[in-house]
Amino acid sequence: MIETNPIVEFLLEESILEIQDVERLLSQSQQTGKSLISIIRTEDILSGDQLTKLIAMDNCIEFINLSSDMIDQMAVRLVPAEMARRYNLIPVKIEKNVLFVAMSSPLNLSVRDAIAAKTGYKIVPLAATEEAVAQAISLHFNLEAVTKQDIVQMRLKQSSDMKVRVKKSISDTVAATPTVRLVDSIITGGINARASDIHIEPQLPDMRVRYRVDGILVEALEIPASAQSEIISHIKILADMDISEKRLPQDGHICFTHQNKEYDLRIASLPATSGEKIVIRILDNTSAFTSLRKIAPDKNDFNKFKALVENPYGIILLTGPTGSGKTTTLYSLLQEINSPDRNIVTVEDPVEYRLDGVTQVQVKSDIGLTFASCLRNILRQDPDVILIGEIRDSETAEIAISAAQTGHLVLSTLHTNDAAGAISRLVNLGIPPFQVASALLGAVAQRLVRAICPKCKTTYPMSEKEKTFFGSDTNEQGLDILHKGQGCEFCRNTGHTGRVGIYEILTVSQGIREMIVEERSSDEIRACAVEQGMKTLKMQGISKALSGATTLKELYRVVDMREN
Ligand SMILES: [Zn+2]
Repeated sequence: MIETNPIVEFLLEESILEIQDVERLLSQSQQTGKSLISIIRTEDILSGDQLTKLIAMDNCIEFINLSSDMIDQMAVRLVPAEMARRYNLIPVKIEKNVLFVAMSSPLNLSVRDAIAAKTGYKIVPLAATEEAVAQAISLHFNLEAVTKQDIVQMRLKQSSDMKVRVKKSISDTVAATPTVRLVDSIITGGINARASDIHIEPQLPDMRVRYRVDGILVEALEIPASAQSEIISHIKILADMDISEKRLPQDGHICFTHQNKEYDLRIASLPATSGEKIVIRILDNTSAFTSLRKIAPDKNDFNKFKALVENPYGIILLTGPTGSGKTTTLYSLLQEINSPDRNIVTVEDPVEYRLDGVTQVQVKSDIGLTFASCLRNILRQDPDVILIGEIRDSETAEIAISAAQTGHLVLSTLHTNDAAGAISRLVNLGIPPFQVASALLGAVAQRLVRAICPKCKTTYPMSEKEKTFFGSDTNEQGLDILHKGQGCEFCRNTGHTGRVGIYEILTVSQGIREMIVEERSSDEIRACAVEQGMKTLKMQGISKALSGATTLKELYRVVDMREN
């Protein structure tokens, strides 16, 4: 009897009750004729979440670990915020004529009927914890509630066919107009959501606001297109940008204070067919100086970085796609060697953080101040260390390599997939292989993966498939377990907070130097580096997953797991 009852299995599997307690409940159920669930309910044995799970299971309703990236914005729009809040539910997805709705009380038939009547869809309930649903509601509806009044006002304006006059809105900016309040809540909303960027994208019929949180874009808000130009103009005014210039991309900067904390906002405008797109990068001034120890907590990685950067001259290259944290790593490396007796100069586009004791030069291509011309000027000022934001062209590559060969330590970034690729990229930019071989100290490929939220981190046994994938690799204890975040208030139910770097650090040895001169392929060079102890991105990723820093799913999203 005990083995066949799914409720009993659940209680035992989740280690909620001991077998003797279960037996006691079962005999109680037989004696009183009450169902097991109603006894559990009256005895108050389970937490709300466990009870939701149990009831869902007992009624053949799927239980989901709701996270914000599961939620389809089209589906959310079908249900008014008020209804979602009152019944603690949120639509998750639409499939043909079926709407899947996450609910904390999935058995409530009258609510299911009410949504069906409201939306015209057949409703399939999904069970989720009360907290998870409430979190999802606050992420998807709250910002809208804050700004609802202003948006309503804008929609009214739109219908009254009022022309937007930019000049007028400038003089009005002092007073808190709907536009001013809305821009303010877009920015504070982004900061509260821990976003790294805010994307404000013009499109019809509504302009879209999205936040990039831990590397993923999340829908935040829709604003009537009629308000678009006012909002964009207001941001451009704050950022000291030319509001009349709408055809060319521009950069600007806003100092923003929120809850006694200062933020550096980098504004970039980009002309698109439907209007100007604005991207706001949020830089938290206090957390800009991340130490190398913090970004490379693994001792092996740290020592390799440290050994590279302690060379008196030569070039170190960081590679990886945009958003892989190259700039942060570059700055941490600089911090590591920053001392008053060293003349450190950077050439950047844009200058992202201010560093004490470092001369930072901003590239201004429009007035002829390119990476190459800045570098030529800098070299006359006797620097010891030069940071070049990015090597994009052969001219910059040539100057960088010759500086590295003439007694300077040069740090820069390149766009290549792996560390060995940096070598062939330099050769493709016209640098003779023997020069690459003599100047290059090392190349580092890096990626950022989302870390597992420490507050809701749990373990689970590896599936057979996962066991095969990891093969002989196991974690320190030799156990076949993996980690994941269940989702909690702290991580907005994503199961992730913050990010961790994965580094493929190729140190140029004598052997590799010879291979570069012999123009051997990237694959051969990589294989040799691995033989000499280099850990590839894939290998590093696997050990991060096994140690519980991130999930396998996250690795597949960010790292090319096919290589080697
Ligand atoms: Zn969490």
